[in-house]
Amino acid sequence: MLIKMKNKIREILKEQAGISSVVRQWSDVLYSEIMDNPQEHHGKGRLIIDGYEFEVYDELPIDYFVIDFYDTMTGYDQTKSGYDDNGYYVVVLYVQPTLIKGSHSYSLKSALNHELKHAYQDYMRVSKGYGNVDTTKESKSFYTEDFIKLLNSGVQEGPIKNILRFYYYLSDLERDAYLENVYDGNNEYVNKVRTVLNTDFNYFKRYNDLESNWDYISNLNIPLVNKFKDPESFIDYSNKILKAKAEKIIKKINKMKYIHKLK
Ligand SMILES: [Zn+2]
Repeated sequence: MLIKMKNKIREILKEQAGISSVVRQWSDVLYSEIMDNPQEHHGKGRLIIDGYEFEVYDELPIDYFVIDFYDTMTGYDQTKSGYDDNGYYVVVLYVQPTLIKGSHSYSLKSALNHELKHAYQDYMRVSKGYGNVDTTKESKSFYTEDFIKLLNSGVQEGPIKNILRFYYYLSDLERDAYLENVYDGNNEYVNKVRTVLNTDFNYFKRYNDLESNWDYISNLNIPLVNKFKDPESFIDYSNKILKAKAEKIIKKINKMKYIHKLK
């Protein structure tokens, strides 16, 4: 009983209203390591950090981190993270040198909090024997390779793609990671969620490129889209689902701010 209670307390300390202290501790470690190694801050730079040297390893045993400096993207790579051939747990991250210089809307520290939250949630799945994030219900429904390629490319901008972007931001996956940024005082995410609430989805039906956008995207492998026969029914469904999701997220954000005494 006592052990059970101790575990419960540990859980609560680890994560409070969606904010994870272990994530933020690891983020502090990586931040210092990045700042201490300016010679790596270029498009081909790389840092490898041994996890066991740090105290937070006892709470979240990441054996090593690989940080690759890339000019084009910042993010957590779930395809390369996980157990290596020797059974060590590795987390692979990409960091843009321009992010370190401060030319993004997020600080390096807050971006690390976000990406490490993804890594942490993946660790919780993988270390318990479940598949990584790619195997979750949400990922299977829309977070496919085609979806990621579409959103990361400049092609096929249009009403259907705009709606898919909403799905991305409001996904459970991104919500949990963005919550860390909201905690850091960045309001961009809150504004995005509010945009969904304030958008008149019928407006999307009047776009000139609606049909062509639909024809292209409905032929990609995105099950969420594939189950609809025409763009109108997809738009109506999305309106209902996304507004309900957005309302829930605003509540979650308000609760987080209340518990952590944030303004
Ligand atoms: Zn993310």
